[in-house]
Amino acid sequence: MLNFEDTTLATPILASRPDAPVLTDTPPTTTLSTTSDAFKRVRAEDKRVINGTADVNQLVPFKYKWAWDKYLAGCANHWMPQEINMSRDIAQWKDPAALSEDERRVVKRNLGFFTTADSLAANNIVLGTYRHITAPECRQYLLRQAFEEAIHTHAYQYIVESLGLDEGEVFNAYHEITSIRDKDEFLMPFIEILSNPSFKTGTPENDQALLRSLIVFACIMEGLFFYVGFVQILALGRQNKMTGAAEQYQYILRDESMHCNFGIDLINTIKQENPWLWTTDFRREIETLMRRGVELEYRYAEDTMPRGVLGLNAAMFKEYLRFVANRRCQQIGLDELYENAQNPFPWMSEMIDLKKEKNFFETRVTEYQTGGALNWD
Ligand code: FE
Repeated sequence: MLNFEDTTLATPILASRPDAPVLTDTPPTTTLSTTSDAFKRVRAEDKRVINGTADVNQLVPFKYKWAWDKYLAGCANHWMPQEINMSRDIAQWKDPAALSEDERRVVKRNLGFFTTADSLAANNIVLGTYRHITAPECRQYLLRQAFEEAIHTHAYQYIVESLGLDEGEVFNAYHEITSIRDKDEFLMPFIEILSNPSFKTGTPENDQALLRSLIVFACIMEGLFFYVGFVQILALGRQNKMTGAAEQYQYILRDESMHCNFGIDLINTIKQENPWLWTTDFRREIETLMRRGVELEYRYAEDTMPRGVLGLNAAMFKEYLRFVANRRCQQIGLDELYENAQNPFPWMSEMIDLKKEKNFFETRVTEYQTGGALNWD
């Protein structure tokens, strides 16, 4: 079942790339001189994703074309929250008969998780990951990704404001709601290590720490922790409820799918360039983290959905999360963790394969304006 994400597929087989380095089992014993290399014209073959010594400000010549392509795709998918008309959502939220209590709980819990989750993601990029990545093509994508995280936080704020929800309750939910707090507490150490000013890559131990954090972020946070919420809000939209919010989540899902796939390409390239990091112990550790991620997200599913709602129930999510976790494992070269897990929500593939011109929930997308106020005369 590989059509899970079809528009922004991560590149699974790095060995086939022309830029793939020759594999060795040991770290290099010599390092390049940073003092002289800093002033040289960059050659593509000198670039490295981590611990590179080539000038990070020279974007070209390209070596990691997949990162540049994702940067261009991210820009082509640009959207802003206020393009989406929220008037139907506002009317439905005000109408006691339009949404059940369980449906309202789904919306509020989702916003409770997502309003702060994308801020954590932004912190992770800006304060952590960015400075440890030495490939300028990848840095370029990370800059785009950081802005997209800001747009997502803006989108949730826009929904909260439109519906007149209690801001304090929603934005502080990651402290107050156990199922949300547990997910974020699981993530925090992996963000903190990268953002610690004294943390530097360059030893196998620290390079593994970076790789571990990247995997947790791409495969567990963006690649798993977002998916219960995505399914629930999109399921609402499919039943013609909260279609403005659902449309925003659809754009966010498309962006996040790209973030996840970029992260997977980044992880696989680091593995390719530094194969000594991918030890048996390390792989087992990642598998344990993945299982823990599935457990936490399943608990969150149960909490958001104490009873069946919208034709969904917690058991379906147990299967779905196992299916998604298998896919993430496979994408980074690990064996599947859960035998025979199936996708109970095949319609999610169509949601991910969103084209902006296709207006799934029939809300109005206004023309996006770029620099309309500029006058060159
Ligand atoms: Fe993201």
